[in-house]
Amino acid sequence: MEIKGLKVFNNKNRDDKVRSFANKKYDLIIIGGGITGAGIALDASLRGMKVLLLEKKDFASGTSSKSTKLIHGGLRYLKQLEIGLVRESGTERAVAHNNACHLVHPEKMLLPIVRNGSFSKFTASIAISVYDRLAKVKSTQRRRVLTKSKVLEIEPLLNKDILKSGIMYSEYRTDDARLTIELIKAARRNDADAINYMEVVKFKYYNEKIVGVICYDHIQDTENEFSCNHVISSSGPWVDIVTKRDRPDATSNLHMSKGSHIVLDKKDLKIQQSTYFDAFDGRMIFAIPRDNVVYVGTTDTTYSGHPDDIHCTEEDAIYLLDALKGMFNLDHLTLDDIKSSWAGIRPLIKQKGRGPTEISRKDEIFISDSGLITIAGGKLTGFRKMAKKVVDLVSERSENNFGQCQTLNYTIHHDPFNSYENYLNFVKDLQREFLHKKEYDIQHLVSTYGKDALPIIKYAEANNISIEKSQLLYTLEYECVYHPLDHIDRRTGYLFFNIQRAEKLSLTASDSILEYLNLDKSWSEIVLKETQERIKINSLSNIKENHLSS
Ligand code: FAD
Repeated sequence: MEIKGLKVFNNKNRDDKVRSFANKKYDLIIIGGGITGAGIALDASLRGMKVLLLEKKDFASGTSSKSTKLIHGGLRYLKQLEIGLVRESGTERAVAHNNACHLVHPEKMLLPIVRNGSFSKFTASIAISVYDRLAKVKSTQRRRVLTKSKVLEIEPLLNKDILKSGIMYSEYRTDDARLTIELIKAARRNDADAINYMEVVKFKYYNEKIVGVICYDHIQDTENEFSCNHVISSSGPWVDIVTKRDRPDATSNLHMSKGSHIVLDKKDLKIQQSTYFDAFDGRMIFAIPRDNVVYVGTTDTTYSGHPDDIHCTEEDAIYLLDALKGMFNLDHLTLDDIKSSWAGIRPLIKQKGRGPTEISRKDEIFISDSGLITIAGGKLTGFRKMAKKVVDLVSERSENNFGQCQTLNYTIHHDPFNSYENYLNFVKDLQREFLHKKEYDIQHLVSTYGKDALPIIKYAEANNISIEKSQLLYTLEYECVYHPLDHIDRRTGYLFFNIQRAEKLSLTASDSILEYLNLDKSWSEIVLKETQERIKINSLSNIKENHLSS
């Protein structure tokens, strides 16, 4: 599949690529291909730095595919009087929407005001008005205070016994993993190198200063060295582990807070409207309709396990179901109704005496004596500002004169829409053109791949293959897929939002990948098992089976 202007980014001839990376000297090596590392790679490459991004598993396989998928100011940070954070996140929402409008969509959020809730109508109205102003929201888009009957008209499932009124306000919704991969593709357009399944296991030193990294290649089972002037660790919940590979006696800076989400079918959970509501214990929870499902989250609990081993537990799922039942008339819901789930870890900076919900979401930078620069904390929403801050620092520490940050108005997709209206019209035009193809979910395709949706469809038509296969061939050629889970989890989100399609694809994807990458048959059996195991974990099938047998 050939797409004009889009740089090939695949796992073919991997050993040649690794060898060529090993022969270069980079200005900057970035450890971790989540949103933070991806944002840094784009910022640094736009300034002319020679950049190598290294990811130990798949891009966005850490927290950056497990968030609530909102580009938001964080209303609850206003409650904690974090005015600076709210202002910055608020303005960054609009920047992200302008620079990647097929991925960052305006989303109206309903805040029901309830008896004994976190907000009264008065405080919520003032707080959201401040929130809108800090974020410079257009006057037509600012918050609206709604009567109880209007709220019930919009969301009839709300529990009218506790409902008093409501407020509708503006946020943005995204696909975190897609945003991450698009940032990496944009960095590659500016000559950055990037590779997945390459774990930094040690550092190289000269005169006690870091001059490179030593990596384990999980695909080829080899050790490789890469040289550079500066290293940034943006390894999210793995920050402490990476720091200890530089200084084994380093103390921990990280507080890991776990957040789980559950996904239900719209036919079981008929919520029409994205809602931000009080759980029975005062925490605030989101319920967000998307395609044919609604996802609900998040929990916020201290986590002390290994960051590689994270999933939604029975306790998390029951907590979220109970929270739903407290706010909506949904007494019939059980664990069996949960279609999928996910859990992630917020890599927060430790603050003495504060629990997970109270810790600031601010980011921080640490520099070790050997020169390892670590950035941690923060939010998906603030990725661009985090990148700017840390790349400014690298620039200051460099002998070369690298320019100023250029990401403020930089459109991320190689073939961007010039306005949101343009995006909406493109969707409508394709829906009209392919009306006869009921199996093409045009809205999903365009919000996933932008204008590349069209060549993906055309390739399917011209080669008489399914749209799913055409998508897979695209992600293999242009998005560095190696494992079926890379495709059904991070590149398409099917594992969360269309688990039946994920199950179907799990049976066929490995054959297509095997053929494309010319892999061994034994690989196929291993990845099929791993994929099916992951589908079981996400759909909570083990928990459901235990319930049936008890
Ligand atoms: P990660 O995405 O975890 O990336 C770190 C990467 O480093 C991983 O991919 C990992 O595999 C890699 N890595 C680790 N060690 C190595 C090594 N040795 N070598 C190579 N690679 C390595 N923010 C928002 O703005 N909006 C939200 O709606 C929102 N919701 C959230 C909900 C939940 C439940 C959680 C947990 C967080 C949420 N956040 C949200 C916060 C946001 O998701 C995170 O701040 C962000 O994703 C962190 O990105 P990161 O790149 O720093 O970390």
